[in-house]
Amino acid sequence: MTDSTSSNNKLQGKVAIITGGASGIGEATAREFAAQGARAIVIADVQDEKGQNAAVSIGSNVCTYVHCDVSDEEQVKNLVESTVKAYGRLDIMFSNAGVLRSTHACDQTVLDMDLSAYDKLMAVNARGVAACVKHAAKAMVEGRVRGSIVCTASIGASVGSEKSVDYIMSKHAVLGLVRCASLKLGAYGIRVNCVSPGPVGTPLLKDILGYENDEEVDKVVESNYTLKGGVVRPKNVADAVVFLASEDSQFVTGHNLAMDGGFLRV
Ligand code: NAD
Repeated sequence: MTDSTSSNNKLQGKVAIITGGASGIGEATAREFAAQGARAIVIADVQDEKGQNAAVSIGSNVCTYVHCDVSDEEQVKNLVESTVKAYGRLDIMFSNAGVLRSTHACDQTVLDMDLSAYDKLMAVNARGVAACVKHAAKAMVEGRVRGSIVCTASIGASVGSEKSVDYIMSKHAVLGLVRCASLKLGAYGIRVNCVSPGPVGTPLLKDILGYENDEEVDKVVESNYTLKGGVVRPKNVADAVVFLASEDSQFVTGHNLAMDGGFLRV
């Protein structure tokens, strides 16, 4: 069978950008995009050595690394323009770069919120995603590409929390952006969705938990799931992103796909 739903080539010939692709969920997704036949994957990140190593290990014939701080709109614009110049089009934007905290501990409550730390976090998690969606959408509209834009939100986009108020706010903003952008871009055949991971044992989560040991991290993570028998890995999130990026989800837009082992209990 040759249709995309049954093959390993769900992204055959596609050109994709992945922000935050040097590590964790972004890196796993870059690997999965390559496995699914993408023609070109551009990893955009601020961790240059890690990003370059990831691109080389995926294969320099298909994957390249570009330094891009998503909080700087000009850098995002250049990222999208250079990708279109190099490969002729942009089919997929995976806007995934994010931070859990800026300079302070992630225990910010509304009573002690440091607003300069808040600004720094929002500049990456909310403004950065807005810049990526805006410039990817413009390139897709101009190139008449019926593309797919996928953002990484979080279970924090759907619930409140006493702590990490800035992070939770930033992820609500991502979901709001996805909903708004999907309405405007539907007329051009461009889909916009987000994936919402629950806790996944990446460097970002290890940083907040303060554990380096993977087994300890897994124990904490699984205790938060209603579904027992394992924990969500970056590869599981990557599979969800492939679904949203590919024709398998051709009529799905404005959707928030949780990958959380039942964490949200909805
Ligand atoms: P990670 O730290 O492994 O990866 C995040 C990547 O984003 C890093 O490579 C980092 O360098 C990059 N990045 C940070 N600031 C950047 C900037 N200004 N410009 C460009 N790149 C930048 O963490 P991860 O868990 O893979 O996180 C990926 C996404 O998943 C984030 O948006 C995060 O909020 C979200 N998420 C993670 C979890 C989890 O438990 N790990 C849960 C829900 C949502």
